[in-house]
Amino acid sequence: MSDKTNLRTECPICAKPSGAAAKPFCSTRCADIDLGRWLKGNYAIPGQDGEATIPANDSNPDADITFRDDD
Ligand SMILES: [Zn+2]
Repeated sequence: MSDKTNLRTECPICAKPSGAAAKPFCSTRCADIDLGRWLKGNYAIPGQDGEATIPANDSNPDADITFRDDD
Protein backbone atom coordinates (compact mmCIF):
# COMPACT_ATOMS: atom_id res chain seq x y z
CA MET A 1 0.00 0.00 0.00
CA SER A 2 1.27 3.41 -0.82
CA ASP A 3 0.10 6.43 1.11
CA LYS A 4 1.66 8.88 -1.28
CA THR A 5 -1.59 9.84 -2.95
CA ASN A 6 -3.21 10.38 0.44
CA LEU A 7 -0.53 12.82 1.46
CA ARG A 8 -1.36 15.21 -1.31
CA THR A 9 -2.76 18.27 0.38
CA GLU A 10 -3.53 21.77 -0.68
CA CYS A 11 -2.37 24.77 1.21
CA PRO A 12 -5.49 26.22 2.91
CA ILE A 13 -4.15 29.72 2.38
CA CYS A 14 -3.09 29.87 -1.27
CA ALA A 15 -4.32 26.46 -2.53
CA LYS A 16 -0.87 25.47 -3.73
CA PRO A 17 0.39 21.94 -3.12
CA SER A 18 1.54 21.76 0.46
CA GLY A 19 5.23 21.45 1.17
CA ALA A 20 6.88 18.93 3.44
CA ALA A 21 8.36 21.65 5.61
CA ALA A 22 5.09 23.22 6.68
CA LYS A 23 2.26 20.78 6.19
CA PRO A 24 -0.55 21.28 5.51
CA PHE A 25 0.68 24.59 4.19
CA CYS A 26 2.92 25.17 1.20
CA SER A 27 5.39 27.16 3.23
CA THR A 28 6.02 28.47 6.72
CA ARG A 29 4.83 31.83 5.49
CA CYS A 30 1.36 30.53 4.78
CA ALA A 31 1.41 28.68 8.10
CA ASP A 32 2.16 32.00 9.75
CA ILE A 33 -0.71 33.72 7.98
CA ASP A 34 -3.10 31.02 9.09
CA LEU A 35 -1.89 31.18 12.65
CA GLY A 36 -2.26 34.93 12.62
CA ARG A 37 -5.84 34.69 11.38
CA TRP A 38 -6.62 32.08 13.97
CA LEU A 39 -5.27 34.09 16.86
CA LYS A 40 -6.87 37.30 15.62
CA GLY A 41 -10.26 35.65 15.33
CA ASN A 42 -9.88 34.16 18.74
CA TYR A 43 -9.13 37.44 20.42
CA ALA A 44 -11.44 39.59 18.33
CA ILE A 45 -14.67 37.80 19.16
CA PRO A 46 -14.86 38.53 22.93
CA GLY A 47 -14.02 42.22 22.55
CA GLN A 48 -16.29 42.98 19.62
CA ASP A 49 -19.49 43.34 21.63
CA GLY A 50 -18.20 45.79 24.21
CA GLU A 51 -16.56 48.35 21.98
CA ALA A 52 -19.00 48.53 19.11
CA THR A 53 -20.56 51.91 19.80
CA ILE A 54 -19.22 54.86 21.71
CA PRO A 55 -21.84 57.31 23.00
CA ALA A 56 -21.11 60.85 21.93
CA ASN A 57 -21.20 62.52 25.32
CA ASP A 58 -18.91 65.27 24.23
CA SER A 59 -21.10 66.66 21.51
CA ASN A 60 -22.81 69.74 22.88
CA PRO A 61 -25.50 71.18 20.61
CA ASP A 62 -25.09 74.61 22.19
CA ALA A 63 -21.48 74.75 21.20
CA ASP A 64 -22.62 75.25 17.65
CA ILE A 65 -23.77 78.78 18.38
CA THR A 66 -21.08 81.31 17.75
CA PHE A 67 -21.24 84.94 18.72
CA ARG A 68 -19.89 87.44 16.30
CA ASP A 69 -18.10 90.35 17.76
CA ASP A 70 -18.12 92.97 15.12
CA ASP A 71 -16.45 95.98 16.48
ZN1 LIG B 1 0.40 28.57 0.71
